[in-house]
Parts: sequence; C-alpha cells; structure tokens
Amino acid sequence: MKIRITLVMVMFLSLLTISTFSKTANADLYVGGPNTGQRAAWYSNSVTSYGYNSLFNQGRASWDNISSKVKVLYTPSTSTTSDRYYVGTTPTANVLGIMLPFRNVSGTVRQVFTTEPWQFASVSAYHNEIQSWGLSDPQIVSMVTAHEIGHSLGLDHSPHQIYSMMIGPSEQLYAYPPTDYDKSELRRKWGN
Ligand SMILES: [Zn+2]
Repeated sequence: MKIRITLVMVMFLSLLTISTFSKTANADLYVGGPNTGQRAAWYSNSVTSYGYNSLFNQGRASWDNISSKVKVLYTPSTSTTSDRYYVGTTPTANVLGIMLPFRNVSGTVRQVFTTEPWQFASVSAYHNEIQSWGLSDPQIVSMVTAHEIGHSLGLDHSPHQIYSMMIGPSEQLYAYPPTDYDKSELRRKWGN
C-alpha cells in the first residue's frame, strides 16, 4: 500500500515537472503582438546617418521565406501600423537594441506591454553599445537588427540553451540566420 502511494506520488510529481517544463518551453511567443505578420518598416533619418540601412535591410530579409504570412517590407512613410526603425545611443551598458510596442488607447498612442495587442513597434539599435562591444557588420545583424525585428514579429526570447537567434541577454550562444527552432516558432505564431 505504501509502495503504491509512493508510485502515485512519483507519477504525479513527474507530470507536474513535465507540464512546468513545457510551460517554460512555450514562453517564447509574446501573449500580445501585432495583428499581422505583414509588416511595413519605416526608417528614421537616424538609420541613414549612422549608416545602418543595409544592416536593417538584412535584418528584415532574414525573416523572409519562412512563413507565407510573414513579410517585413520597407515603407518610405509612417502610418498608424508601420513599425519604426531607429539608431541612437543609450546610457545603459550592454543594451544593444530594443523593441517597444505601441497602440492607440482612447486617442493617445502609448507604449503597451508585450502581453497586449499592439499596432506598431519601435525597433532601435544602440550604436554606442554596439561599438563598445566591437561588433562586426554580420554580428550587428544577428545580435541586433534581425533579433529586434524578430521581437516586432511577436517572438519573445527563446528558452535557456536553445539554439536560436532570439536568445535572452544572459545566454552565450547566438545564432544567425533564424534557426529551425526560430522558424518553427514564427510559423507557430503566424502559420505556414
Ligand atoms: Zn531580445
């Protein structure tokens, strides 16, 4: 009798472990996001003045041909739904780039959480930190532009030690272009 109880307990505990693990493994899509993977990307003058046009072009192109529902096209004009790309500097050490989501709430465009729907994202690269890291062009694409554009498509950071372009800040391995894992996550978000 005692053995049976122990066995049931062990089974229960392992089920708990499995479900906890799969919850963690699925944590790399934002609950929120834009309502379409067909994005228009507007470049601020800062992109040209810092010489980042081709770096952002490559970042956008890295997400091509994975899902028929996803395309990030350049647009020369902003709209209420176009994403906005910037290059600037940050006082925060080791932050290479950032994606911030926005939505019009009761007539005011404001920053929202990644758990909410958003209309457009600002995608920024921080030139001073990129320089202090001594990154080369392909590394800037892989670690900053393609990565942040991935966030703008609704992808969160991948789980610990997954081979992915969407690794979190404390992870060691970075990948480029999108790995099989990244592709499957993009398709999970938007479809094939
Ligand atoms: Zn990130």
